[in-house]
Amino acid sequence: MKIIGLTGGIGSGKSTVLSIFKDLGVATYIADNEAKKLMNSDEKLKNQIAKLFGEKAYVEGELNRTYIASLVFSNKEKLNALNALVHPKVHEDFQQFINKTNVDFIIYEAAILFESSSDKLCDYTITVLASFKNKTERIMKRDGISEAQILERMKHQSTDAFKIKKSNFVIRNNKLEDTKCQVLTIFELLSKLKK
Ligand code: ADP
Repeated sequence: MKIIGLTGGIGSGKSTVLSIFKDLGVATYIADNEAKKLMNSDEKLKNQIAKLFGEKAYVEGELNRTYIASLVFSNKEKLNALNALVHPKVHEDFQQFINKTNVDFIIYEAAILFESSSDKLCDYTITVLASFKNKTERIMKRDGISEAQILERMKHQSTDAFKIKKSNFVIRNNKLEDTKCQVLTIFELLSKLKK
């Protein structure tokens, strides 16, 4: 089994690339979604988060995302502390997912693959790239937010250069047809590799 880490900046097309891989029969694990689930279901993690952020962290048992976001947005130490609680749990959950999944490929998608050291779980890594213009236009359309808000979010992400340096492959997601060709080429290449 080969584990492939998939990352990219906001709006680069991670989900789009993931769904192309999925059509090729690859199993997928979306770390951000699983993290959200675990923060609402794992009692030990919930207690740790409540201890870190106070009782307002949960409202009727559900994570108060707006409140947490407002706290970590301006406080890097709090963000690091939250990540230090969540990522080991996600990695543990991913290990269980691997154990019960009998396929040749699993893609682990994470916006902060390298920053969370999740690339250590992977045999290969891929970064999805798109032009600034494409990214901003797509996010404005998808999320209905302004260019200024997008720039603010991008400011908090690591650069493409950082991700490219750490990746085995890059996919340039500008024209969808070209993206599909790149996914197929990488898939065929990975299929041939021993590990
Ligand atoms: P990410 O997961 O990296 O945030 P998405 O895959 O959700 O990015 O892509 C952002 C938006 O752009 C989505 O609405 C998606 O449908 C659209 N999109 C992605 N890739 C393309 C493409 N090659 N051509 C046109 N639209 C695209």
